[in-house]
Amino acid sequence: MLLAIFFSALAMTLIVGLRYLATSGLFAFATSRVRPGLYKGLDAQIRREIFWSLASAAIYGVPAGVVAWMWRDLGWTRIYTDWNAFPLWYLPVSLFLYLFLHDTWFYWTHRWMHIPRWFKRAHAVHHASRPPTAWAAMSFHPIEALTGAIVIPALVFLVPIHVAMLGLVLLIMTVMGVTNHMGWEMFPRWLVHSRAGNWLITASHHQRHHDEYLCNFGLYFRFWDKLCGTDRGLSPRSL
Ligand SMILES: [Zn+2]
Ligand SMILES: [Zn+2]
Repeated sequence: MLLAIFFSALAMTLIVGLRYLATSGLFAFATSRVRPGLYKGLDAQIRREIFWSLASAAIYGVPAGVVAWMWRDLGWTRIYTDWNAFPLWYLPVSLFLYLFLHDTWFYWTHRWMHIPRWFKRAHAVHHASRPPTAWAAMSFHPIEALTGAIVIPALVFLVPIHVAMLGLVLLIMTVMGVTNHMGWEMFPRWLVHSRAGNWLITASHHQRHHDEYLCNFGLYFRFWDKLCGTDRGLSPRSL
């Protein structure tokens, strides 16, 4: 049994690590095409970003691997595979619930990590990227990585979700984590500046967090930032 858990954790670590390299690599390549020279002179920083991100992959991989084993071998989680186990309308609802709950956890732990004494210990690594690149998506100190790594593994015990929707949650998490740091806006202006865009976080919003620190703490949605008065809007520089 211990061996099964070990291999599940190892497999997940490899998957998370490769997923990071593939996604960040893809968007770094896109950056070299769309904004040539944007990462000029940042080679040493990018090496650090990759180092911390791969360390984070192990921290994300272990709880994910343990939970995957519990799901497969023990059936303990609330992940389901039968499309009819819940009404079909629940599919988008569960997706939104996961994103909202993850966003809520992220917002408050992120604010906590901006308290000066915790910032130095847990969050300075992430902000050492100035400006961040597509490789900074998982560039976290182990303490910060741990706070991020436990959210989805905890939620699958609480909120039912179809395995395909869970895959979609992870896809959105991965793509937004990379693109919010890559230094340019991939979404069209009409969307970023629309009514819906007013509630969504993309690169134009998160870049401002990296420039100004004490605003724009959210992950996917601007709900908590707006509610708590920490939303300063999009970056004044056009990305
Ligand atoms: Zn960031
Ligand atoms: Zn921060």
